[in-house]
Amino acid sequence: MKTIRLRDGRERSLQRRHPWVFQGSIASGRADSGETVRVEAADGRFLAWASYSPESMIRVRAWSWDEAERIDAAFFARRITAAVAMRERLAIASNGVRLLHGEADGLPGLVVDRYDDILSVQFLSAGVERWKAVIADALLAATGCTRLYERSDASVRSLEGLPAVTGWLRGGGDTAVTLHEHGLRLTVDVAEGHKTGYYLDQRENRALFARLVRQFGSQRVLNCYSYTGGFSVAALNGGASEVVSVDSSGPSLARATAHVALNGHDPARHVSLDADVNGTLRQMLQDGRSFDAIVLDPPKFAPTASHAERASRAYKDINRLALKLLSPGGLLLTFSCSGGIGADLFHKIVAGAAMDAEVDGYLLQRLEAAPDHPTTLCFPEGEYLKGLVILKR
Ligand code: SAH
Repeated sequence: MKTIRLRDGRERSLQRRHPWVFQGSIASGRADSGETVRVEAADGRFLAWASYSPESMIRVRAWSWDEAERIDAAFFARRITAAVAMRERLAIASNGVRLLHGEADGLPGLVVDRYDDILSVQFLSAGVERWKAVIADALLAATGCTRLYERSDASVRSLEGLPAVTGWLRGGGDTAVTLHEHGLRLTVDVAEGHKTGYYLDQRENRALFARLVRQFGSQRVLNCYSYTGGFSVAALNGGASEVVSVDSSGPSLARATAHVALNGHDPARHVSLDADVNGTLRQMLQDGRSFDAIVLDPPKFAPTASHAERASRAYKDINRLALKLLSPGGLLLTFSCSGGIGADLFHKIVAGAAMDAEVDGYLLQRLEAAPDHPTTLCFPEGEYLKGLVILKR
């Protein structure tokens, strides 16, 4: 077993059970990609068992703080079983559930979404890459699923020096399934969809939106960055008479159109716009349009805190335009999934947008990711999705 020794004073974060050690904290030691290492403080005290990532700034990710624990197949089976059991206790009312959420479930870099009978998996760190076969078997054993599709094509893989890999890892067959969540029916293709196939983190917020549209009687709804139209169908389920979905991905919009019909709604009530959101909002303002409810769910504008300033301007701009387009008494659901933008900063950005738009609004509710995408107390960096429900005055 190879040993990684930290510089003096750099043991604190591991002692607080934060799982990452950056390159600059390491005094000595190296290992192969994904190899299990013993991490010691400068004075030789045991700190953690961890995996080594020779190419990443995050050089070490902890597996366990228990010196007696062995990092073997049984270890992965224990962690996976515990994560799956936690989701069962959450009793999520859908056949689409995030079963493993990386660091939060004690397996850094492992993301597993269950879409009906298919497990769609991202191996995003050198450590889980090395244990891939063991992890795949443990996932099937813990869930009773027989099909596992690999979606290791996220760009963060390159930071670990790992190539993109996609395809069936266990089982095979049709890659498309139908999800049922809170009265919505949504098709997902694990081979083609974004990330592992779908955005399960917005499940509860889609359901909330359907309730709000019904409660406030919103008729004309604009869903920006609609992807396959989850919020659009939610609006129609809530009684909206007219929904516009805007996205820059044609295939996603085609699926959104299909989802409207699949959920029993008149296709004439839904319009798809294959366009950039910012430009579309500007054009709509010029055309004098207005909406009773607007959703803004953009992609990550700030992957890290270093992008926060430019991203802040981009968030402010779309929120300002949306607030102007809203009719008085209208609803805005606005989100940021940028890890680099905290909830407080996001709140300030939206407040600034309202100031520029010369409107005010009631902050009805703060939103976050669904509970199967948990944040843990020791790893606050895991928190990424934040949202606000605003009622324009
Ligand atoms: N709200 C969706 C998920 C949105 S993901 C849901 O509940 O499922 C973000 C979407 O933004 C993606 O579909 C992507 O294609 C789209 N997108 C990214 N940049 C865009 C832009 N500049 N204009 C329009 N859409 C964009």
